[in-house]
Amino acid sequence: LANRAFHPDDSIIDVSGVKVGGEHLAVIAGPCSVESYEQVLEIAKAAKASGANMIRGGAFKPRTSPYSFQGLGLEGLDILCAVRDEVGLPIVTELMSPDYLDVFNEKVDLIQIGARNMQNFDLLKQLGKVDRPILLKRGLNATYEEWIMSAEYIMASGNENVILCERGIRTFESFTRNTLDLQSIPVLNSKTHLPVIIDPSHAGGKWWLVEPMAKAAIAAGANGLMIEVHNDPDSALCDGAQSLKPEKFDALMKQIRQIAAVV
Ligand code: PEP
Ligand code: MN
Repeated sequence: LANRAFHPDDSIIDVSGVKVGGEHLAVIAGPCSVESYEQVLEIAKAAKASGANMIRGGAFKPRTSPYSFQGLGLEGLDILCAVRDEVGLPIVTELMSPDYLDVFNEKVDLIQIGARNMQNFDLLKQLGKVDRPILLKRGLNATYEEWIMSAEYIMASGNENVILCERGIRTFESFTRNTLDLQSIPVLNSKTHLPVIIDPSHAGGKWWLVEPMAKAAIAAGANGLMIEVHNDPDSALCDGAQSLKPEKFDALMKQIRQIAAVV
């Protein structure tokens, strides 16, 4: 179902009125984690003014250590909904457990499946039952074929609205958090008709790598970006080191628009 050979036209996915794919550029911005209503609201207002068209924020966080901040859970979800009502942009947040399938289906505009769950096949099959589009992140060490097959699981279960997100893969290099695979853009564009967006924040793990990689991604034909933005990165509860301040995000968006206009 994901195969370009049987579906030559680019898929355009509708996320509560925001189109993703083809000529439409998706820019998802927001903090790694929902920390408070005021925090997400301030970031969301700034990001929208800069040109973001969706707001992200984790309520359920897949942390490596069980002692790290795990997210605000359902309270975080309600904060995101309140920000959506205030700012008027769709919200994107990660689902980790099928226990919350119904509440996510009710409240979340674009349901994110994180890298660590890319091959959680039972979870993927459950996503066929939801009406919401899915943002499927690439697994830490997944090949293109494995990643596409995970999209296929969701589509074969009844939900064909899948957006793929490259977020860096594990390599021998340890200076960067992961290695951003920009080749995924042309490769996936040839293999599938699904939109491909790039997350340079989790790829590099350092805020100053975000701008050059975001620009390269757009130049290479990505359908959009997911970028972590925080109003006070030094005190962020998660991923501060890779988060852009709103003014840096604003400057990046100006450059992105120029690049998008010529590709
Ligand atoms: C995230 O986007 O918040 C996240 C945890 O990303 P990943 O699953 O790509 O690590
Ligand atoms: Mn993060």
